Amino acid sequence: MHEATLVQGILSTSLAAVERHNVDNPGNQAVKIQEIECELGLLACVEPQTLTGCFELFAEGTLAEGAALTLRTARLDCDCSVCGKAFKLAQRHFVCPHCGGDEIHFNGGHGLTLIALRVESEEQDHA
Ligand SMILES: [Zn+2]
Repeated sequence: MHEATLVQGILSTSLAAVERHNVDNPGNQAVKIQEIECELGLLACVEPQTLTGCFELFAEGTLAEGAALTLRTARLDCDCSVCGKAFKLAQRHFVCPHCGGDEIHFNGGHGLTLIALRVESEEQDHA
């Protein structure tokens, strides 16, 4: 399943980042991931709902259990094969904004990229 691969990548990147944070900040340990913010490529062709479902499954038993997965759409880097200009697309409307041409070359757009993490640290007051 394509979604599973993407989610596993994001989860392991997030957990590794928290581990690194904990090694660097012994006095301020992160005990839980509250939110993972990601950018999803415009060409990734996955359902956000499926991604979220996969995430909940894989996050069980890790520091990311119960974390919110916030998905944004990444802007896609494109080059127009007609006029040669580079531009970015924010939605699936594959037409060059400069010349109206539809022979567009895409760079990337298939991945899920980690943008930000929000963690809960043990120094916080527990109400
Ligand atoms: Zn063009």
